[in-house]
Amino acid sequence: MLIDKKYILRFKGIQTPFYFYNIELLKETLQEIKREISFHKNYLVHYAIKANANPKLLQLIAQAGFGADCVSGGEIQRALKTGFSPSKIVFAGVGKSDWEINLGLDNDIFCFNVESEPELEVINELAKAKGKIASVAFRINPNIGAHTHANITTGLAENKFGIAMDDIERIIQKAERLSHVHILGLHFHIGSQILEMNDFIVLCQRINLLICQLKQNHHQLKHINVGGGLGIDYEQPDKHPIPNFSSYFNTYAKYLNLSDEQQLHFELGRAIVGQCGSLITRTLYVKQGATRQFIIVDAGMTDLIRPALYQAHHLIENLSSDGDLEKYDVVGPICESSDVFAKDILLPKTNRGDLIALHSAGAYGEIMASQYNCRPLPQNYTSEELSDVKP
Ligand SMILES: *Cc1c(COP(=O)(O)O)cnc(C)c1O
Repeated sequence: MLIDKKYILRFKGIQTPFYFYNIELLKETLQEIKREISFHKNYLVHYAIKANANPKLLQLIAQAGFGADCVSGGEIQRALKTGFSPSKIVFAGVGKSDWEINLGLDNDIFCFNVESEPELEVINELAKAKGKIASVAFRINPNIGAHTHANITTGLAENKFGIAMDDIERIIQKAERLSHVHILGLHFHIGSQILEMNDFIVLCQRINLLICQLKQNHHQLKHINVGGGLGIDYEQPDKHPIPNFSSYFNTYAKYLNLSDEQQLHFELGRAIVGQCGSLITRTLYVKQGATRQFIIVDAGMTDLIRPALYQAHHLIENLSSDGDLEKYDVVGPICESSDVFAKDILLPKTNRGDLIALHSAGAYGEIMASQYNCRPLPQNYTSEELSDVKP
């Protein structure tokens, strides 16, 4: 079992479905990242809020000293409310609204990651109106295909994100002429759930080339932000509860040519929170179909959309039964054929009422929940909350 027995006892009295967060694992993961970056000079990690914006987790991540990577005004508000310092907030996104830019300016956030020339102009104008100087980095589209699901690659020329490599020189020159922006550096983010270090090596090589080229034309860039994207082990979360941060940071240390004055920023989301969360659901019915056997649970794609959206795999465990293995499809109650969590998996003989856990659901789980079919949003509990309660 991936979840301690003492918590499973508590689960019995709780309305399902709900997210359960293992706070000890989150803390260990944060400590491990801090330990690993301490071996490198000038490495800074921002947590990508969009992976999971649960305030209970955000407070811990902020307390541990991490910055925040935001992709909307709402995320900036959430980050500020949960204790992230504005001086450690970076703001990315292809379509920043005026109110979102103003919010960033009013709070003097560290950096706007600018994704187009018209956005640069608008930021300059809005900053001018406030008599402020906006700090900006340029998000570059490095045209790299990461080896991950097509819906979560972001660094290909055909993707909507970032500024093309060929345009960057001209845009930097333009920004240098604008009165109310200050150029901090460059930003990249090539995709998510990346497990091949070679994808990050290719990114490093692209960045080296670009820095070299820009240096020749006397553009000094103090900050390089390489985004996030480090993947987690969805197949065997029990064997790899904490991603290999050592090899991740060492890859950058080895392949990226930075000067002593340059700072390297990371924006990790999934790798920080992915493994600490599980979706806990109850078996409503076990139904024998014409050709297959279904476990119908009370969680659906409205609570965890990744399997429906990206054909994602989550390890599924029956927390209540240790009977003989049988073959099942695990499905939700939503009126959509894509509301399927797994097909043809082996689980102990399952009965109505059995608790089922979908593991590795801490990232892009609760935050993507919807109220489709007029369903209530899933509740959430931390291991700390459940240790205090008497059974
Ligand atoms: C989503 C996102 C991240 C985080 O991605 P993970 O795969 O969760 O690490 C980082 N930076 C930007 C700009 C993003 O959009």
